[in-house]
Amino acid sequence: ALKINETCVNCDVCEPACPNQAISQGEVVYVIDPSRCTECVGHYDEPQCVMVCPVECIDPDPAHPETQEQLLAKLKRLQETV
Ligand code: SF4
Ligand code: SF4
Repeated sequence: ALKINETCVNCDVCEPACPNQAISQGEVVYVIDPSRCTECVGHYDEPQCVMVCPVECIDPDPAHPETQEQLLAKLKRLQETV
């Protein structure tokens, strides 16, 4: 999963760009739900939130390192629950 850091300016551009509805407004800055972020694997070649973010405040989440296989498995779980 990816993580939004504290330099986020709450511009809301990333939220609609996420194919997994993983992004929402947080108490201070926008937040990514690690259980829903597949790093865009299965949807796009590049993380869409990173591409649209004007301030480059989205980094890999050190608490949730994942392999391509794990990200794909997460996508499959998400698709099964919709
Ligand atoms: Fe959503 Fe993709 Fe960003 Fe993860 S990397 S939060 S799935 S847009
Ligand atoms: Fe924050 Fe970047 Fe998302 Fe804007 S696009 S809300 S600055 S993370």
